[in-house]
Amino acid sequence: MSDLPKVLVLGAGGFIGANLTERLLADGRHDVTAIDVDGEKLEGQIGHARLTFHRHDIRRRDDSLETLVRDHDLIVDLVAMANPSLYLTNPLDVFHLNFTENLRIVEHCVKHHKRIVQFSTCEVYGRTVAGVLGKDPAEMPFPFREDESPLIMGPVKNHRWIYACAKQLLERVLHAHGLEDGLNYTIIRPFNFIGPRIDYLPSEKAGNPRVFSHFMNALLYGTPMQLVDGGRSYRAYTHIDDAVDGIVRILDNPGGVCDREIFNLGTPENETTIRGLAHRMIAIFDEHFRRPGDPHPEIIEVSGEAFYGKGYEDCDRRIPDVTKARTLLGWESRHDLDSVIHHTMKYFVEAHRAKTAKGS
Ligand code: NAD
Ligand code: UDP
Repeated sequence: MSDLPKVLVLGAGGFIGANLTERLLADGRHDVTAIDVDGEKLEGQIGHARLTFHRHDIRRRDDSLETLVRDHDLIVDLVAMANPSLYLTNPLDVFHLNFTENLRIVEHCVKHHKRIVQFSTCEVYGRTVAGVLGKDPAEMPFPFREDESPLIMGPVKNHRWIYACAKQLLERVLHAHGLEDGLNYTIIRPFNFIGPRIDYLPSEKAGNPRVFSHFMNALLYGTPMQLVDGGRSYRAYTHIDDAVDGIVRILDNPGGVCDREIFNLGTPENETTIRGLAHRMIAIFDEHFRRPGDPHPEIIEVSGEAFYGKGYEDCDRRIPDVTKARTLLGWESRHDLDSVIHHTMKYFVEAHRAKTAKGS
C-alpha cells in the first residue's frame, strides 16, 4: 500500500458501496479496503492496485473488525439490511445488524479515534404531519430538515419501523459519543438512490427487492406491476452518480464542515408518486428499449399487507431539504427523473439481454 489515506468501506459490495468504491479508485486519492459478505458487484474492481477486498462478515466475533478499524484513516459504514420486505419478515435480524453490529463499528472508532461516515436513512423522518393527520400529503408539503424536523414513526405493532428506529438510535448514539468522547462522525441520510447495480430482478433471484426492480421485472418478464395501496406514496429519486458525488464531498470534508453533522442527500425536484413512477417507466421503456415480443405488463393494485405481510405501514412522502449539502458542500444533483430512470433501466435491460442471449 502507498502513502495515500486509507479508507475502510464496510458494505462495499452493495449498491451504494460498489458505486462508491469504483469512484474512489477512479479518483486515485485513497487506498481502499472493501469489506462485504458478497463481492459480485465489485467484480470489475477486484484486482485494482489500490483495492483490497475481504469477503468478511462483520458479525464475526474475533478482533478482525477492530484491527481493520485501527489500521485505517477513515471508516465508511454502509452495512445494513436495507430492503423493506426484510423489515417485515426478519425484524430482529434487521435490528441486530443495523444497530447492534453497527454499534460495534462505532465503538471501535471511538476507541481508536477514527472518523466515521455512517449511512443512515431518510426513513428516520418517518411519516409526514399530513400523513399522521390523515390528510393528503400533497396539500401539506413538509420538507425534511436534518436539524429541525421531528422524527415521526408509526405504532410498534407496525414493525416496518424497526429499521428506521434502529438507524435513528444509532444516529443518537453517534451524537452522544460526539458529545462525550469527541467522536468525529458524519451521518448521511440517503433519499432513494437508484442506478446501475441496484438490487436484482425477482424472476432471476429469490427475494423481494425495492420497487424499481419489481417494475423492471414486469417490463422484462411480464409479471404484473403491483401498486401497493394504490401507489399513492411519494418518493424523490436520486441518480447514484449524483449521490456518489455528494458522498465523496462528505468524505473529503473540506475545512471540517462535515464534522458531527447530518446530511440529507436527495433530489426534491425528482419527486413522483409510485403510480407516476410506474407510468414513467412504461413510457421510457416503450420509447427507448421495447423490442417486438416484449411483454406489456398489467398494472394492478395490492394492499400493503398482501404485498409485504402484517405490520406494514408506509412513509407517505419524503421531500429532502438539501440546503445544507448545497451550502456547505456545493453539492447539486444533476440528473432529472427521466434521466435517472433511463440510466437505471439501461443497466437492467442490457444485463437481461446479455443473459438471455447467452442462454439461447
Ligand atoms: P445494499 O443492500 O445494496 O448494501 C448493503 C451491503 O451490506 C450488501 O452488499 C451486503 O452484502 C452487506 N452486508 C450485509 N450484512 C453484512 C455483514 N454481516 N457483513 C458484511 N457485509 C454485510 O444497500 P445499499 O442500497 O447499498 O445501502 C447502503 C446503506 O445506505 C445502508 O446502510 C442503507 O440502510 C442506506 N440507505 C440506502 C438507501 C438507498 O437509496 N439505496 C436509502 C436509505 C438508506
Ligand atoms: N412498492 C410498490 N410496488 C412494488 C414494490 C414497492 O408499489 O412492487 C411501493 C412501496 O409500498 C413504497 C414504494 O413503492 O410505497 C417504495 O418502496 P421501496 O421498496 O422501493 O423502498 P422504500 O422507498 O419504501 O424504502
